[in-house]
Amino acid sequence: MNDKKKLIAANWKMNGDLAANEALLHAILAGIGDAACDLALAVPAPYLAQVQALTAGTVLALAAQDVSQHEAGAYTGEVSAAMLRDFGVRYTLVGHSERRQYHGETDQVVAQKAQRALAAGLTPIVCVGETLQEREAGQTEAVVRRQLAAVIQRNGHCISEVALAYEPVWAIGTGHTASPAQAQAVHAVLRAQLRAASAQAGRIRLLYGGSLNAANAAPLLAQPDIDGGLVGGASLKAPDFLAIIAAAH
Ligand code: PGA
Repeated sequence: MNDKKKLIAANWKMNGDLAANEALLHAILAGIGDAACDLALAVPAPYLAQVQALTAGTVLALAAQDVSQHEAGAYTGEVSAAMLRDFGVRYTLVGHSERRQYHGETDQVVAQKAQRALAAGLTPIVCVGETLQEREAGQTEAVVRRQLAAVIQRNGHCISEVALAYEPVWAIGTGHTASPAQAQAVHAVLRAQLRAASAQAGRIRLLYGGSLNAANAAPLLAQPDIDGGLVGGASLKAPDFLAIIAAAH
């Protein structure tokens, strides 16, 4: 166990609508009680204003799912870190594997996005993780170290301000979760890499993500280097999300 307050972040991905979001938020807020962890909801950009209004003054912090690597200007379709700030956003995912895979985000782009977020006072939740093919080829450590190295190289001076999410690509949305031992082993690698870069590495929160659910959350969250979770599918069902929150203490 460790003494950092854990962070549980929901990733709604491209799901929801005004009515469904409102119902989900009401159910979460009704059941949340005194959560022992920090909480964030990464919602689709068009719903930031709605979720900001419905969560104002609650324990739920607002998060975005992505941020532009550019500051402002002629970048059609992009959302800047300053715009996210304007809507009270506290965290943003960067480098989610779905962005890397379907939108061609390179390690360098991800590092730049983290930099933009930090400059605007947002906490980037930097996602790293290997594919099944990479795991089977014994490349897990090399892949996550390479992904993190790019972020450290660009943001070394303030690396202790980021959060990191280890999300094995083969575990995302598949129902195949990394075992607590598998996840802890990778988290230990990431922690060691962060320690080499910063004396403050101990306070960086390392989240696990990938088919996290009510049944498997407790043993994963009990690992010494797992400081929270990034929850996709299970965050869309209030009872499941609440059970994961209850396991995070
Ligand atoms: P999942 O997604 O919990 O549905 O596997 C996690 C994520 O992609 O952040």
